[in-house]
Amino acid sequence: MPKIVLAGNWKMYKTQVESLEFLKAFIPLLADTPEQRCVILCVPFTNLQLLSQTLHGSIVQLGAQNVHWENNGAYTGEISAPMLTEIGVRYVIVGHSERRQYFGETDETVNLRLRSAQAAGLTPIFCVGETKQQRDKGEIETIISQQLQKGLIGIDQSNLIIAYEPIWAIGTGETCAASEANRVIGLIRNSLSNPHVPIQYGGSVKPENIDELMSQPHIDGVLVGGASLQPESFARIVNFNC
Ligand code: PEP
Repeated sequence: MPKIVLAGNWKMYKTQVESLEFLKAFIPLLADTPEQRCVILCVPFTNLQLLSQTLHGSIVQLGAQNVHWENNGAYTGEISAPMLTEIGVRYVIVGHSERRQYFGETDETVNLRLRSAQAAGLTPIFCVGETKQQRDKGEIETIISQQLQKGLIGIDQSNLIIAYEPIWAIGTGETCAASEANRVIGLIRNSLSNPHVPIQYGGSVKPENIDELMSQPHIDGVLVGGASLQPESFARIVNFNC
């Protein structure tokens, strides 16, 4: 597994034309990016085929934003892991808080999706994190350990990325302090059977805070929403200074 993973989550943004415009500006900005940095773009399903062709041979890897647990079946609106691998997708976000909040994902369905991703050879980016209310009530350790315990049943920790994404920091501009993100990620690492699983921080990462986040010993990368939509800001994040 790569040790440093910088992933963009485009959520439900960008048409195919807009994706190509992004790449035209973004790829040249990666000319000096160190090879050991794994750069991933997790894009809407409709852009995957096009980006698979366009990114071929570049340092940017392709990721999806969700995957179903069956290979096929009567699951209107869902996409399976073999459908993703067939077109060159290598990574997939699973258990994002927006999926849990708006689309009824539970720790159990997240676990099923993680399993199907791995069974097809995809590397899942497994998201965990607490709400503001849970943090204020001092429940952060309990919540995250429950998400990890249930999510990781039957999961191969040698083909896994974890993203710690405090929900109150996602899309709010309110970043978790780098030292606190580092503390929680350290706790996550201690609970894993494989201490080498890359663990990212996610939540309002931007050019202004990336260097401090990446200077923390436990933080192996970032999962970036809003700031991954602009080529210059995502390139600055990928090209963080260490
Ligand atoms: C995300 O979508 O996973 C995310 C962290 O979003 P943002 O960077 O916009 O907070």
